[in-house]
Amino acid sequence: MQDSLIKEIAAVVGPKYILTGEEDRWCYAYDATDLTYLPDLVVFPGSAEEISGIVKLANQHRFPVVPRGAGTGRAGGSVPVRGGVVLVMTRLNRILEINPEDMLAVVEPGVITGVLKRAVAEQGLYYPPDPGSADYCTIGGNVAAGAGGAMAVQYGVTRDYVLGLEVVLPTGEIIEAGARTFKSVVGYDLTRLMLGSEGTLGVITRIILRLAPQPASRLSLAAGFSSLDAALTAVGQVLHSGLIPTAIEFMDRATLDCVREMLPFKLPPQVTALLLFMLDGHPRDVASRVKRLGQLCKQAGAQLLLQAKDEAEAERLWAARRAISPATFKVKPHKVSEDVAVPLGAIPLLVAGAEDIARQRDLPIICFGHAGDGNIHVNIMFDQSQPREREAAHAATEDLFALVGRLRGTLSGEHGIGLTKAPYIGLELSPAALALQKRLKQAFDPQNIMNPGKIFPAAGTPAGL
Ligand SMILES: Cc1cc2nc3c(=O)[nH]c(=O)nc-3n(C[C@H](O)[C@H](O)[C@H](O)COP(=O)(O)OP(=O)(O)OC[C@H]3O[C@@H](n4cnc5c(N)ncnc54)[C@H](O)[C@@H]3O)c2cc1C
Repeated sequence: MQDSLIKEIAAVVGPKYILTGEEDRWCYAYDATDLTYLPDLVVFPGSAEEISGIVKLANQHRFPVVPRGAGTGRAGGSVPVRGGVVLVMTRLNRILEINPEDMLAVVEPGVITGVLKRAVAEQGLYYPPDPGSADYCTIGGNVAAGAGGAMAVQYGVTRDYVLGLEVVLPTGEIIEAGARTFKSVVGYDLTRLMLGSEGTLGVITRIILRLAPQPASRLSLAAGFSSLDAALTAVGQVLHSGLIPTAIEFMDRATLDCVREMLPFKLPPQVTALLLFMLDGHPRDVASRVKRLGQLCKQAGAQLLLQAKDEAEAERLWAARRAISPATFKVKPHKVSEDVAVPLGAIPLLVAGAEDIARQRDLPIICFGHAGDGNIHVNIMFDQSQPREREAAHAATEDLFALVGRLRGTLSGEHGIGLTKAPYIGLELSPAALALQKRLKQAFDPQNIMNPGKIFPAAGTPAGL
């Protein structure tokens, strides 16, 4: 990037809010994938107006602008694949309003999700979306990625809590979408369009979030089974029972091997699949629902039932759940981490299919995740330095996506398409649907400056390859 252009950008945000040194720029070259691309410049804007100024320069000089929250994305969304400016949102980190009467909060995009959750809890309110990365990811990143999490069974996902947005469009205009009301149907739903748009349709600069009342109590229960089939049968029965757990997570045998010593209890050797439940509500009601839940699990063949006796023990259970992703690297140094989702009835077929793929491709595959909503994390483990394993991991990913298609599922339940899944998007979207999505992108961003190279496969890439 030319010095004169860097000076123009520095004039918009102030020279102390840009990074030009190569060693500094490398710190903003990656996310939670293995992908790394060096940006030409890193910029920390302090307002929507400053972002608008940078975006206008980007249109004038044709450089890419890549919004970045905390860089915890799992699809390469904030990786600057075509260089340009990485726009880091960490300065925009104010909670502007928590309004108990209207049951909403207004925040800037760089607020850390966990910080917001704790701030609203102090006022007796609850922001339910709970991605495993909540302690370090940003609300802006959650909205742009369409983040989910464990609480989706009862409470839904980020998408269900966003009432309105302020957005700097790729052309530099600043718009407001949505409203401060729980219902609004005025014109097209631009708020929803921005949800999961992965920084390709604009930079989100303010977010109005719906809040729920803080539940009076919570209980967590772990149920161990001697087979995955039995565990998944229990999930189906619980979902039909009307008990409405807040969360239902599952871990297969390979997952348990990774986090066994983090659990607050010793697992008997015959337990090869674990379910984790959380329920919330009035204490008496929760206690009776947990009891019934335990009975259902027993009927489905549970060998072990453990109710967390206090908050600390419950936290150890959920900390083990949150630790799964990093712990999988005990198995192999690299992984393809997919977050496919299938209709509820197809979860056992997906997990059995993943086991088949592991056998056929001779690679470990670890399955865990959100059994209550069909969003299963399938981790294909491999060693990048071994050509056979690299190729097998690629082939296993294609096998997995083909399986998900047969089960009428979706390529991504919560991480988005970004860079990693762009070559496969044609497996799910028809040519006409894909063409319409590209026309939308073109209408928002005629010069393709906003996070180019994401979601849509690069020109010349055949669909599904
Ligand atoms: C250990 C671990 C556990 C995880 N668990 C979960 C989970 O349970 N559920 C889940 O859904 N995800 C999970 N994730 C993935 C990730 O944390 C989420 O996708 C999160 O929403 C990303 O937020 P971020 O602030 O890190 O965004 P980034 O990674 O910085 O960016 C993500 C995308 O959003 C865009 N973006 C960021 N900010 C803005 C903005 N202000 N305006 C426009 N576009 C923007 C970026 O360009 C990029 O495309 C996990 C990740 C890790 C590492």
